[in-house]
Amino acid sequence: MSQTPSAVWNNCLSFIKDNIQPQAYKTWFVPIIPVKVTNDVLSIQVPSKFFYEWLEEHYVKILRIALTKELGPKARLVYIIKMENTFGNKMPFTEKIPSSSSSSIKSQSIESPFSTFASELKNPFVIPGIRNLQIESQLNPNYTFENFLEGDSNRLGRSAGIAVSNKPGGTSFNPLLIYGGVGLGKTHLAHAIGVDVKQKYPDKTVLYISAEKFTQQYVDSVKKNNRNDFIHFYQVIDVLIVDDVQFLSGKSGTQDVFFHIFNHLHQNGKQVILTSDKAPIDMQDIEQRLLSRFKWGLSAEIQNPSFETRVLILKNKLYRDGVEIEDDVIEFVAKNINSNVRELEGAIISLIAQSSFNKAEITVELAKEVINKFVKNNRREVSIDYIQKVVSDYFQMDIQTLQSKTRKRHIVQARQIAMYFAKKFTKASLASIGTQIGRRDHATVLHACKTVDNLSFTDKQFRKYVEDLNQKLSN
Ligand code: ADP
Ligand code: MG
Repeated sequence: MSQTPSAVWNNCLSFIKDNIQPQAYKTWFVPIIPVKVTNDVLSIQVPSKFFYEWLEEHYVKILRIALTKELGPKARLVYIIKMENTFGNKMPFTEKIPSSSSSSIKSQSIESPFSTFASELKNPFVIPGIRNLQIESQLNPNYTFENFLEGDSNRLGRSAGIAVSNKPGGTSFNPLLIYGGVGLGKTHLAHAIGVDVKQKYPDKTVLYISAEKFTQQYVDSVKKNNRNDFIHFYQVIDVLIVDDVQFLSGKSGTQDVFFHIFNHLHQNGKQVILTSDKAPIDMQDIEQRLLSRFKWGLSAEIQNPSFETRVLILKNKLYRDGVEIEDDVIEFVAKNINSNVRELEGAIISLIAQSSFNKAEITVELAKEVINKFVKNNRREVSIDYIQKVVSDYFQMDIQTLQSKTRKRHIVQARQIAMYFAKKFTKASLASIGTQIGRRDHATVLHACKTVDNLSFTDKQFRKYVEDLNQKLSN
């Protein structure tokens, strides 16, 4: 009797498929690769440790039933985990975990690949009693899991978030990095984890902080000569949530201090949760050693919600606000606003406002009117790419020329204007603007902004360019 691993696994799969949700099947079973079968042991390869933990937590029963049917009562399952990366070693390596396909595996500790990394911060300045310090969590109590509607677009992040809040620091999703475009719910989800931890573990010190504020605090601490206190403060936190870490790009001092804080927390089994508007691979001007740590745990992307999820989110919001709106209006809004959740909420709020100002009924007609206006007004959030396109079109050159190293005056000016508007219309840092517009440094961008200011003042023709472009970019 010789069976191939795929034959065994395919039989298991068809049984599993019949017994779980199609989406769950797609997410958790399709990616599995059967590798080996010997007597009563099947080895399967899973993409990550997260995956393995998830299977063990949620699907171990069905796996056991399926496998027992195939291989008999002594059936066992072995997971092979593909590890993405380990300190500096880019080669993927494979880690084997024997499984008895029973819950005992959960307690089996997988040797952490991080233990060899020891960069201890020996601090002679331990403040006595700091552990009793009360730290304000800075959490928004309205941002809960309950209010965070689930859809395909956020399921992974939401589920991982719940897992983390059940066992902060005790899962392999450490750090948990939530990334995705603006207004998709990263901040909400990050708060929800914190709020939930606080509820379950009131004694744990949770802190939510934006990367921007963190940077500010750090810069202040350097000025005031109490960098060590700053570090200490962060080292006593059990669950640290840093929002919008892309803000750290180009800020090497802050990155450095965050690196040390991160290592300390991680080594001590504390939980770190990060959000970013970019995937780690697309983050610019973040040091490699920090980036590689961001990838240690789980990176979960939040995507644009599907139509169904948008409807769900709207209904939930209206319900909480005690407003009743016909389904066809809700569907109309959900169909027409598909950029992100923040705009979706904004549109429905203006709709409600319109109807109450004008004492008009909320109809699809009214929704059409409001949304047309709303969509126009929201065109203001422009991207650096868009700015470069508008500016280079205006000066009739292509983007490569705009970004090139040439010193030809009109090209230099166009480039400086693009930088100026990138600073004006986006939240990107000088460093990040520089990187995106022809790989320049932050000083060049700063210089560009000043030059544009000066020239607009002294040069009439130049001022006209800037005004024209301002107009174009504002509507
Ligand atoms: P981001 O940080 O990704 O820019 P936010 O977390 O600020 O986005 O979310 C924008 C708005 O959308 C918030 O009001 C948030 O409550 C809401 N929101 C986002 N995703 C969801 C969701 N899945 N369910 C309910 N509300 C959501
Ligand atoms: Mg946010």
